[in-house]
Amino acid sequence: MFPARGAGPVRQDAVQPGLIQRDRARLWHPYAPASADLPLWEVEAARGVRLRLRGEDGARHEVIDAMSSWWSVIHGYRNPVLDAAATAQLAAFSHVMFGGLTHAPAVELAERLVAMAPAAPGRPGPERVFLADSGSVSVEVALKLAVQYQTARGRPRRQRFLSLRGGYHGDTFAAMGVCDPVDGMHTAFPGLLAGNIFAPRPPAAASATPETAQAWAAVVAELAAAHSAELAAIVVEPVLQGAGGMHAYPAECLALLREVADRHGLLLIFDEIATGFGRTGELFAADHAGVVPDIMCVGKALTGGYLTLAAMLCTAEVATAVSGGQAGALLHGPTFMGNPLACAVANASLGIIETGGWRADVARVGTGLATGLASALELEAVREVRTIGAVGVIELHDAVDVTAVTAAAIRHGVWVRPFRNLVYTMPPYVSTTADTEQITAGMVAAVAEVHEARAHERVPARSGSVS
Ligand code: PLP
Repeated sequence: MFPARGAGPVRQDAVQPGLIQRDRARLWHPYAPASADLPLWEVEAARGVRLRLRGEDGARHEVIDAMSSWWSVIHGYRNPVLDAAATAQLAAFSHVMFGGLTHAPAVELAERLVAMAPAAPGRPGPERVFLADSGSVSVEVALKLAVQYQTARGRPRRQRFLSLRGGYHGDTFAAMGVCDPVDGMHTAFPGLLAGNIFAPRPPAAASATPETAQAWAAVVAELAAAHSAELAAIVVEPVLQGAGGMHAYPAECLALLREVADRHGLLLIFDEIATGFGRTGELFAADHAGVVPDIMCVGKALTGGYLTLAAMLCTAEVATAVSGGQAGALLHGPTFMGNPLACAVANASLGIIETGGWRADVARVGTGLATGLASALELEAVREVRTIGAVGVIELHDAVDVTAVTAAAIRHGVWVRPFRNLVYTMPPYVSTTADTEQITAGMVAAVAEVHEARAHERVPARSGSVS
């Protein structure tokens, strides 16, 4: 809660000469047109799980951030441990170049990440860390590394990737090239995106059987066999495809991917940028299956949402091969690589994760989401409700009216950012049971208010369950 002006959902003030209008005149927002009509709210303050928003009409709303600022703010806003880490590092130095220099925050962070990374008996986990500025950049680095690895192993023709329909891996070019070729951005950049190979989406977790998983794996295996001479790696979001549709699939599929990759000399890349650090109920989504990737990307929650930072981790075998290859180095090195401020906050964030409390938090939030969202299934407009870990999804039959649902949810004290036909949430781990109740009630109410009247004309053909 906000101590002073935050109490109470709405307060009318004289409208200041519009920050929102000034924004609209000068700024781009994610996946948005440069438009005078862009719906926007100003964030005036943030604390714990709550944001204080101010609308264009001057009205203030205190809302729970049901999005954790896109999966990142897992420990809440103005977390005292993260604040202290940032302040201490500011007092030391906030940035130095990473070429030829090093510092304690980066070294400690690399050691922490390696200690956490998936590993299995006889299969050492990732041991070498490249610190990148954002999730997309870490994916770029992972893809480069895979190609360099194959070249170093004497297979320079292996320059393509096997990825999944429904996948999302970021907005930079190589990352876009492994996103879903239809729903991603391939069609906007036909001359620039490399032709990669796409396997179907794995079967949905809620309805999959060992047989459907095997049938899917057989298709993947066929594609891998047909293209192995030109493939460097398989790239997937393990267990949960996020921005491509919030699609949860069985963990057994990861073991099948591991087998296919090994059979054809492909590296296995897990993009854990959204799923990492507990979100799906295990520390990494790979841990649901005990599968160890050769390369792994993390980001988003890495700094608890304080600063932009991501990391690409790879096995010692991959690192050694690339370092001994013709180039003699991994060919990437951004200006803000290993930014000390971001690394210091990441260390504080991972320090909280290391206490292990996240497991009970994610379980509590997940139970609250499953319970609270179940009633959405009674709505005609709703096709399916699903949860995994601390992620909850209401899938509608039709595209969400994003503006109307967002505004309705705000009236119910909840910030959501729907897309396509999905109204979804991944609350901060520090959300209480009451917070989760408010989130789910707000989501269900917003869908009911905006979409139920429109849905009454349709005959429901609902399939689905809370899983
Ligand atoms: N990979 C996955 C699975 C993601 O969900 C995202 C972002 O949503 C990215 C990569 C890209 O990360 P960033 O937005 O930090 O570049």
